[in-house]
Amino acid sequence: APAPASDYLDRLNPEQRLAIETTEGPLLILAGAGTGKTRVLTTRFAHILLTGRARPNQILAVTFTNKAAREMRERVGALLGTPPEGLWLGTFHAICARMLRRHAEYVGLRQNFTILDTDDQIRLLKQIMEPYRIDTKRWPPQGLLGVIQRWKDRGLTPARITPAEDTDYAGNGIARRIYGEYQDRLVALNACDFGDLMLHMLEILRTQPDVLAQYHRYFRYILVDEYQDTNTIQHLWLRLLAKRDQGPSNIACVGDDDQSIYSWRGAEVENILRFEHDYPGAKIVRLERNYRSTEQILAAAAGLIAHNDGRLGKTLRSGREDATGERVQVIGVWDSDEEARIVAGAIEQLRADGHPLSEIAILMRAGFQTRPFEERLMTLGLPYRVVGGLRFYERAEIRDAMAYMRVLAQPADDLAFERIINVPRRGVGTAALQKLYVQARALGVPLSAAVAHQLETNAIKGKAREALRELMDVFDHARDRLSSDGHVVVVERMLEDSQYLAMWRNDKSPEAPGRLDNIRELIRALTDFGSLAGFLEHVSLVMDAEDNSGNDKISLMTLHGAKGLEFDTVFLPGWEEGVFPSQRTMDEGGNKGLEEERRLAYVGLTRARKRAIILHAANRRIYANWQSAIPSRFIEEIPSEHVEHRGQAMTERRQLANAPSVFTAGPIHARAASRNEPRIPRVTDVLPKPSTNIPLGARVFHQKFGYGVVIGVDDDRLAINFEKAGEKRVMAGFVELAS
Ligand code: ATP
Ligand code: MG
Repeated sequence: APAPASDYLDRLNPEQRLAIETTEGPLLILAGAGTGKTRVLTTRFAHILLTGRARPNQILAVTFTNKAAREMRERVGALLGTPPEGLWLGTFHAICARMLRRHAEYVGLRQNFTILDTDDQIRLLKQIMEPYRIDTKRWPPQGLLGVIQRWKDRGLTPARITPAEDTDYAGNGIARRIYGEYQDRLVALNACDFGDLMLHMLEILRTQPDVLAQYHRYFRYILVDEYQDTNTIQHLWLRLLAKRDQGPSNIACVGDDDQSIYSWRGAEVENILRFEHDYPGAKIVRLERNYRSTEQILAAAAGLIAHNDGRLGKTLRSGREDATGERVQVIGVWDSDEEARIVAGAIEQLRADGHPLSEIAILMRAGFQTRPFEERLMTLGLPYRVVGGLRFYERAEIRDAMAYMRVLAQPADDLAFERIINVPRRGVGTAALQKLYVQARALGVPLSAAVAHQLETNAIKGKAREALRELMDVFDHARDRLSSDGHVVVVERMLEDSQYLAMWRNDKSPEAPGRLDNIRELIRALTDFGSLAGFLEHVSLVMDAEDNSGNDKISLMTLHGAKGLEFDTVFLPGWEEGVFPSQRTMDEGGNKGLEEERRLAYVGLTRARKRAIILHAANRRIYANWQSAIPSRFIEEIPSEHVEHRGQAMTERRQLANAPSVFTAGPIHARAASRNEPRIPRVTDVLPKPSTNIPLGARVFHQKFGYGVVIGVDDDRLAINFEKAGEKRVMAGFVELAS
């Protein structure tokens, strides 16, 4: 095994060293994006081990995602020269799950307890709610689950909830009572939900001094990344563990108030502000040098975030020694399909120039935005991964909606029918389904025909009878209307009439609105096809696309999921009012939500090392209708000297967008009209500007091909004789002068 690195401190600036070498006592590292906070935590971890202050299992390190935990484990391993084992390194939930397995008996669970998923939670909650005779149309169980989760986020067990807290749901203390029963039932089932992992552990640490003392002896050092996004329960849990009776609280937290983007999940940026109060004598270290992004990107991001009030205020200057870089590009496009075409085209160019795909990210505000990009990338054979989520056509709600469409197009599609027969719940249990299958086989007919048969012969009873009759009517009606109303309208109505959309509308979990957006996007995609069958075939082909590309893939993810990550090139599509900032934020009004959206924009921009490209479409299609869109206010908030506008003049486009409603007449007209659209910006418009400062004969460095000498200059392309790779033509923008 390679020896541990001895020079690991040399490569850091003085403030970073201070943050690493101040091992004893509470420490808050408050610093902007890309200043090396995570790197400091990782090096601190290794430093504590290498200086013999603690053994590997005596350090508790909390990351925000499992991916970040994996990376930190690797980096610590590299610094130590051996892969470390037995580390307490992971997300809050992962660490709590591991602890809870050891102490399960204190909360009445056995060591092998199961962790329920949301479906199970809802099912259980419904059972408990039954005797209360709650009007579930008005007070859906999903809403109650949300209330319970918020209580759990605040560390509130049923016993700790005061009547004053219990106002959000159905009134008179009902929520509290059901919550209590729900917790009891979980214990009886030897199960817990996700939120319980932390709640139970907090309760154990609060009430079992022996257990707490054991962890105090254990964890001599605590490290926390992304501290600005901790919620109340996480904060309480950390404080209990950090406040040791013997010895100082060796807790080091790193955070950036400008990157607090999870308040919708109960995160409290105030936890940062309270740090000195929580841990008297805490030291605060600020890091001001950004090693990630070019000066242009940094200045753009700084100018944007300056529009927020109530910031702690931080200085951020570039620590990179290379050129100032390119301005942030802003490209106006026609619609989301053109947006995807332009981005994919630019990526093809980048790839041709030797740019690794793993260094490219497309970061979106909302999950539904991935669809046009996924289709375009698949068409071009550009490998991608959707990080922190599923590919569009793999998402549960999309599969459900597709199953409805398949049954509509092909009543004999039993697999599709089985998927939706009880979604939303129609009271069809496994036994009833079994009987349907037996009958279908006996009659030699598809499942849906067996349903029709059983309805006729009164073989189906109770609640299921009414519900299934309605479902069959919905399909019959839809088939009747298909040729007259067109497939888009019919599909939309089918999803409505079958109560499928209502199911998600009544779902009060934080993911539900995003699922509805995905379905809306699916219907939007449907308008691109002349028939339902054509669309279904397209999707099955797209889903079948094979991918042998190993690890060199473009990353598609939400801005939320991109926290802490970095890429050479970052595309930021959909910067339009109503998308980003989101319509929901704008409807809420007030500054709080808007400031969080702005922080999200700041997170997006600061993911880029070398180039950031913002796109905004002049038109968004909602179902079959066009709506004109205005560029996001965030674009204007970026100081203009750091922005370069590309693409079509917006005025001309807006005139077109506001033209009389050929666009609202339906899919076919819309397609025809878009053929007359103004000139599409060329793919090369997107690409980096020629670096005029590279002369013939210069010695240069290229990311992929290494060192070489310029032997030809042609517009924005250079011919270079590379020392290792030989002669190649590359884009000037990807070449740096070698000193
Ligand atoms: P974020 O706020 O986005 O989470 P961060 O503060 O955690 O950012 P890091 O991801 O740790 O920043 O570091 C950003 C980049 O700068 C990384 O590529 C890291 O390796 C590099 N870096 C950090 N410190 C130095 C340094 N002293 N010299 C050179 N590069 C550095
Ligand atoms: Mg970080």
